[in-house]
Amino acid sequence: MQKRALEHPNIEVMWNSAVNEAYGNEKGKLGGLKVQNVVTGEVTDLEVNGLFFAIGHEPATVFLEGQLATDEDGYIKVKPGTTETSVEGVFAAGDVQDKKWRQAITAAGTGCMAALQVEHFLEEHGIQEGKSDPVQSEQVRNDTSTLADQHGEANELLPNDRPEKMEIFEDGHSHLVHNHLSENGAPASPSKELVASFL
Ligand SMILES: Cc1cc2nc3c(=O)[nH]c(=O)nc-3n(C[C@H](O)[C@H](O)[C@H](O)COP(=O)(O)OP(=O)(O)OC[C@H]3O[C@@H](n4cnc5c(N)ncnc54)[C@H](O)[C@@H]3O)c2cc1C
Repeated sequence: MQKRALEHPNIEVMWNSAVNEAYGNEKGKLGGLKVQNVVTGEVTDLEVNGLFFAIGHEPATVFLEGQLATDEDGYIKVKPGTTETSVEGVFAAGDVQDKKWRQAITAAGTGCMAALQVEHFLEEHGIQEGKSDPVQSEQVRNDTSTLADQHGEANELLPNDRPEKMEIFEDGHSHLVHNHLSENGAPASPSKELVASFL
């Protein structure tokens, strides 16, 4: 695009310049611009009847400070077809990881993908890797299996070990809380909940 613009006979590039002022004409429309060369300070009067600002495509990823892998232009790298970044458990969606399309609909689509991937990640790791208390997590697995064995058709109340809710604490720990089943197969009271902890 840069090459095409530079080679186009109708385009004159004013390097190192900034628009200081846009002024109107007697018809109340744009009459021209005061353009200042930021190196020399010289101000040029440019008679034009149109002005378009291009804001560029710089992804706002500086705040990451290198914690996630980005490409040479600052876009977050994701595994193709997913929202997975270079750090397990961190997912990226939208324009910050989309160098090509950068549209509202694609941003929304990858946002949906990221949300689902987060959900799957939490489900998988909350049950399978209880880092802060492996014994307790093992107990949760055993208890859940036992419940499933005991309640037969009521197992559908625990589809895929889906967490009922997540609690996040100030120390960075999270708890996935699963509803226990009472004797008749219905969810039991909160006091009987099973809890899996992980970082
Ligand atoms: C002028 C213009 C016209 C467009 N027209 C169209 C169009 O017609 N159709 C179309 O489909 N798309 C259009 N787009 C593109 C569309 O707007 C984007 O693709 C879409 O908004 C991307 O969504 P996003 O959530 O990834 O990012 P954004 O909508 O940019 O949202 C990112 C948010 O993160 C915030 N943020 C940034 N850094 C931080 C930080 N460090 N901490 C906290 N918050 C932060 C920002 O303030 C912003 O609110 C247009 C874009 C522009 C600029």
